[in-house]
Formats: sequence, structure tokens, C-alpha cells
Amino acid sequence: MGLTHLFAGYHSGLLHGRLSDILEFICYIYQMIQHILFDLDCTLYSVSYGLEEKVFARMMQYVARYLDISVEQARAERNKQNNRYGTTLEWLMAEKKFSAIDDYLVSVHPEDEADTLRPDPELRHFLKSLPCPCSILTNSPGFHAVRIVKKLELEGVFYKIFDIEGNRMRGKPHASSFHRALDTLGLKPEEVLFVDDVPRYVEGYLAIGGRGLLLDERNAHADYPHERIKDIQELARFLN
Ligand SMILES: [Mg+2]
Repeated sequence: MGLTHLFAGYHSGLLHGRLSDILEFICYIYQMIQHILFDLDCTLYSVSYGLEEKVFARMMQYVARYLDISVEQARAERNKQNNRYGTTLEWLMAEKKFSAIDDYLVSVHPEDEADTLRPDPELRHFLKSLPCPCSILTNSPGFHAVRIVKKLELEGVFYKIFDIEGNRMRGKPHASSFHRALDTLGLKPEEVLFVDDVPRYVEGYLAIGGRGLLLDERNAHADYPHERIKDIQELARFLN
């Protein structure tokens, strides 16, 4: 149903003085989502593939080599700075005088990193049937995003892929990461629904006035205080 028909329907309600129709119409306009921004890893495919755990393990091995410490020490150092920096790379650059960005990205994302991922025709059909366009906002490099999209056979589904290079390696939950995407889309935070499996990333988007949803496939964040879903298909109820 087009907006004109919707308006006409609600308008006829106005003529009959139905207050509930007026309120419902205002709510509809206020809540209208015009675009959906999806995180990539563990959002567009199941966490059970274990891909991100392997990426993190490679990151810690890289950090250990670079700082000449053990992998356990690398994990401990990174965890201490988890709330301060959105990504391990950002932490290394800001605090450890690290500059070999391309070497790092290629090392943590080897060519065979996603070979276990299977095409997801059901997800493709679901995303294509959404009532608005969708894009990807990831803290990963662009070549990784393209690789994953190809493996899932989701080419042509997304309007844009916003990667970490495009925001000078400053990723979610920095406000600039979200604003870069919003500025490109020409939309306001409240007009874009953002879906991610990491609570602090979603909370970063909520903090700038956006509508954010946590995808919590395994109920791993039972104390998360905002809206969440277990399966991406549940999105439909937030868009109707
Ligand atoms: Mg993710």
C-alpha cells in the first residue's frame, strides 16, 4: 500500500473524528523506517559457524607477535581496553604505535577464512522482500565484507557496504561510524534501523537517537535492557 493510500485511509478516520486513528497515524509516520543497516559477522550468518572466534584468535596471535608477549597476555591487554576502542586495530594504532594496517587485515582475514560458510537463499529472499532498502555497516575491511556476501550468495541485495577503511579505521560504536553511513544515505538516525550482535555497538547507535536492535541468537546477553531478537526474520514485526 502506498503512502498516499495510507494517508487517505487515515484521513478518512480524521474526518470521522477518531482519535485513535490520529494517534496511530502519527505513530506510523514517527516510526517509519526507511533503511536497515545490518552488521555483517554473526548477524548475517549464525554465530555457530565460529568464524569470528577464529578471527579474534588470529588477531591475538598477531598482537602477541607484534608486542612480543604471549597470546594470553595479548588477550588480557586487549580486554583492558575493550570499552575504549571499538576494534583491536584501533587500539594498536592509538596506543602501540602500530601502522602496518594492510598486513594486519590480510593476516587476520586469510583467503580461506569463510570457506565453511554456505549460501543462504532463505536469507536472500527475506532481505529482498523487506519493505525498504538495506546496507551493511561493519568494523571489518571491505574485502572481507565482499567475501562474506559472496559466500552467502547475497550479491545485489545491499545498497551499500560501509567498511572500516571508509571511516579511517574508526568503527562502531563511535558515533562517526554511524553518522558516516547516515550522511551517505541522507537519513536521520530515527529513520534507520540498525541490527548488530554486539550490545555496545547497538547501544552506540541508540545513544545518537537511532533505532537499534540486538540480535542475540543464543540468549547470551540476558541482562541487555533494550529491544532484541533471536532471529533476523523477527525483524518483520518492527517494520509493519
Ligand atoms: Mg557482528
